[in-house]
Amino acid sequence: MKKDVIIVGGGIGGLCSGIYLLHKGFNVTIVEQKEKLGGKINIIEEEGFKFDLSASILMTPKIYTDVFEDVGKNYKDYFEIINLDPLYKVFSYDKKSLLVYGDNNKIINEFEKFEKGLSLDFMKFLSKSYEKYYLIKNDFLDKPMINLKELLNLNSIKSLIKIKPLSTTSNYLNKIIKNEIIINYLIFSSMYIGVDPYKNSNIHTLIPAISHLNGLGYIKGGMYKYIESLEKLFKEFGGKVLNNTKVDKVLIENNKIRGIKYKDNTLRSDIVICNNDYTYTVKNLIDKKYLDKRYNKDNIEKKDYSCSVFILYLGLDKTYDTLQVHNIYLNKDFKESIQSAFKGIIPTNPSLYIYYPSIRDKSFCKNNKSSLNIMLRIPNLSLYKSDYNKDDIRKIRDIIIKTIKQIPSMDDIEKHIVYENYLTPKTLEKDYNCYMGNAFGLSHKLLQNIYFRPHIKSKKVEGLYFLNASTHPGNGASVVIGGSKVLSELIYKDYKK
Ligand SMILES: Cc1cc2nc3c(=O)[nH]c(=O)nc-3n(C[C@H](O)[C@H](O)[C@H](O)COP(=O)(O)OP(=O)(O)OC[C@H]3O[C@@H](n4cnc5c(N)ncnc54)[C@H](O)[C@@H]3O)c2cc1C
Repeated sequence: MKKDVIIVGGGIGGLCSGIYLLHKGFNVTIVEQKEKLGGKINIIEEEGFKFDLSASILMTPKIYTDVFEDVGKNYKDYFEIINLDPLYKVFSYDKKSLLVYGDNNKIINEFEKFEKGLSLDFMKFLSKSYEKYYLIKNDFLDKPMINLKELLNLNSIKSLIKIKPLSTTSNYLNKIIKNEIIINYLIFSSMYIGVDPYKNSNIHTLIPAISHLNGLGYIKGGMYKYIESLEKLFKEFGGKVLNNTKVDKVLIENNKIRGIKYKDNTLRSDIVICNNDYTYTVKNLIDKKYLDKRYNKDNIEKKDYSCSVFILYLGLDKTYDTLQVHNIYLNKDFKESIQSAFKGIIPTNPSLYIYYPSIRDKSFCKNNKSSLNIMLRIPNLSLYKSDYNKDDIRKIRDIIIKTIKQIPSMDDIEKHIVYENYLTPKTLEKDYNCYMGNAFGLSHKLLQNIYFRPHIKSKKVEGLYFLNASTHPGNGASVVIGGSKVLSELIYKDYKK
């Protein structure tokens, strides 16, 4: 008989796991507290403007298309994806700017124009990263990591020795590259999972490296178009969705899943996958006796968490040709501005990520208007306590605008703002149940990574599984999508006759 699966949360991980499991013959219901699916990958549509809510950098495009191809569908029937090149435009506080391409010939030309010998250093970085990436992907990320022997075997140990994870991102890059702008560009983009690059492992330099090795994709219509495509496929395969339904409890009897409870209702199932925030699940949805020792009600709040973000969404009555889709502004006092997110400080001279889909996508710039997201990493609520009231928001907003005006030809931006909106740590806490408003889940420090990250399968409860930014393999849309494939294969193996 077909097994019934309930997925708590319709984030990208819930949707992809649901599709893989439907294809393998399970019945799947997604129970989502909000009206729309997608979780943190969502959309704001107001006053004629459209904004991707959070995620915008589409790494490893093949992972996104594989979800459709793996289940016998042509992704082109659902969405259109293009390759971005340049990948980024990098602006420095001293008015220098640089296009960072994916194409190697273009990198060589652009970097050599900028500084002699720079492209050689950069290629050295890429070739070192290439080996690390394949070792990490094959030996760790693409494995369930639920048994210690997956980590402690000769092959994995040999890989760990080659990967040399102990030196920090900053130290590692300084040994390979001399140019400060390129070092800071790589440090900034290694931070997409929200850990301090001056204190944490250099394995996070794989984030920019993978962007160069696999390219960056862009889905026409923005990231939310991908969520809509997943939802369509999920429903075509017979998946059910319960929207506006907040799960209050995961029901377990005699160490076996029985279903979930919401309001006064019970929904029975053989399997439950918790796609919602892991800390929230541990604190609120599961009885203490069913939790593993490493992450339980007594210690979960004491773990290390990623930083948070402040996002300023601007609707403009002008387009800015100087920007690419992805832009990074590197400010003076770079190290200080980066570390402030881990020291409980809002920086006065911040470095920023600027997302401007309008430059490539007409759906983001109707009638010569355009949509700009500016993201500043800030401390989570445990390090910087604030209600983010109007005055708090205004202060951060003004710091960001002052900084953006430093970009050549953007000094007039304030005159062209016709719509504004914000995302703060409080939004993440209130709307997405993210503990202390963290943006990227449990910190990816080494002792909370790979085997030491929360496992995707419960040791104590038959039928209980987890997949979200805080579990193995970790945060990032492409990483969570990859995790959904590993998880669905694991569940299939556990339940096939
Ligand atoms: C600001 C920001 C920028 C980012 N930028 C990028 C980027 O550029 N590229 C990238 O690859 N990744 C990026 N990420 C990371 C990426 O968004 C996440 O890794 C990914 O969205 C995680 O998906 P998920 O499926 O684990 O969970 P989520 O998106 O967190 O979904 C969980 C779902 O569970 C629901 N839920 C919670 N509690 C309950 C309950 N009790 N009952 C029912 N439903 C519940 C929530 O409403 C939500 O829909 C970014 C993240 C943030 C916050």
